[in-house]
Amino acid sequence: MDFYALTIHQLNDLLQKKEVSSVEVTNSVLTRIEQVEDKVGAYITIDREKALVQAAAADKLMGEGGGGALCGIPLALKDLICTKGMRTTCGSKILESFVPPYDATVVEKLKEAGAVIIGKVSMDEFAMGSSNENCAFGVPRNPWNHDYICGGSSGGSAAAVAADECIAAVGSDTGGSIRQPASHCGVVGLKPTYGRISRFGLVAYASSLDQLGPITKDVRDCALMLKVMSGYDPKDSTSVKQEVPDYAGALTEGLRGLKVGIPAEYFEEGLDPEVEKAVRNGIDLMQQAGAEIVDVSLPHTAYGVAAYYIIAPAEASSNLARYDGIRYGFRDMDADDLADLYRKSRSQGFGDEVKRRIMIGTYALSSGYYDAYYKKALQVRTLIVEDFKAAFEKCDVMVSPVTPAPAWRLGEKVDDPLSVYLSDILTISANLAGVPGISVPCGFSGSGLPIGLQMQAAHFEEEKLLRAAFNLEKSLGIVGQRTTAL
Ligand code: GLN
Repeated sequence: MDFYALTIHQLNDLLQKKEVSSVEVTNSVLTRIEQVEDKVGAYITIDREKALVQAAAADKLMGEGGGGALCGIPLALKDLICTKGMRTTCGSKILESFVPPYDATVVEKLKEAGAVIIGKVSMDEFAMGSSNENCAFGVPRNPWNHDYICGGSSGGSAAAVAADECIAAVGSDTGGSIRQPASHCGVVGLKPTYGRISRFGLVAYASSLDQLGPITKDVRDCALMLKVMSGYDPKDSTSVKQEVPDYAGALTEGLRGLKVGIPAEYFEEGLDPEVEKAVRNGIDLMQQAGAEIVDVSLPHTAYGVAAYYIIAPAEASSNLARYDGIRYGFRDMDADDLADLYRKSRSQGFGDEVKRRIMIGTYALSSGYYDAYYKKALQVRTLIVEDFKAAFEKCDVMVSPVTPAPAWRLGEKVDDPLSVYLSDILTISANLAGVPGISVPCGFSGSGLPIGLQMQAAHFEEEKLLRAAFNLEKSLGIVGQRTTAL
């Protein structure tokens, strides 16, 4: 049996019944990686030995009658999540040999649950990008068609799940980086409410927007991962003291009584007809399953990209000031003096997109421009928050596309950052407002590339989101469809 192709809940069943061991499952995933990794390129670091030690420990725990849903399950982590003793590069030359002295809270939680960490997966440098082409260590490819991007910035996480190179993965989402690659790779990706999951040990890009979340093969797995990853953490003052529900338990109810809002601004000109068709088909299925469809409006959507591309770079310019060549990370050894050391280390350590953002952010925060750019962007952010509040008075979840078009060809937009920024228009607002969003596979383009459907809900309404997504997944019947391009 190809254990690597199974989901968390399928494997958990077999593991609990002792029909398979975690060591066998982990070996199956490691063999799969050997077979397909040269075509996908999802991983930056793999630690076979440690993974097998963790698998043996999980088997022991289960042998003693312990272990929950994630026990013995091989996972991959986006390479901006600190792992004690395991290199954490953020896809950047500046952190090429950085080995964190501690685990992120989310890693502690996953390890406590008995999960097996296979390794660290590719990403756009410091999570800045939408195609994973901004990575200093090679570019992963879309497992459905190797000429196409897998999306970003959690491209390695989504590609690894889609290629069965792990059973599930953790990604991060600042402006769509979980949902967009999940959509392009035909897997499920959830960005939880801001504050649901601790950000302690997540290397900061834009702290008021960053959130960790699961990328999985189906919605049930997503619920199981979210349960383990969530919760208040005294080490992250923005994590919220709110009970963590039994998310998987919410998956039994149907859609009757659920109000599904269709935000007009997410279906405007420029939307690819194949994407629109697949998403509208999803909406029809939800209606047939008993959901009530209502029209809603998010009138400030069009300003989201402009506001985000001020706020995120502004926060990044401050967060990334710590990479100075002194404290940790890459250092240029030929510098003449301190200023030269900063300049040379940062010039060589950061890639072009990161430098572009640092410059935009520094400019937007500088005296004289602060009011015109940063303050204005924050005012727009408030309007977007208000849009969501008003919309959720009329509905429980909102359904829309995740991206205006399916994945683009590798290289197609490398010289056109603006068009890449604009492609984030449908995911960015959820981060600005802090609400949860999920991407669920809902179809394929004529050329066989996956298309995702996005659902958004009010703060801490992940249960509604998962319940709606679970029902849609059932009606669509495309879950479990795997790529044949590997
Ligand atoms: N594409 C967006 C950006 O480049 C979002 C990235 C993310 O969510 N990390 O900023």
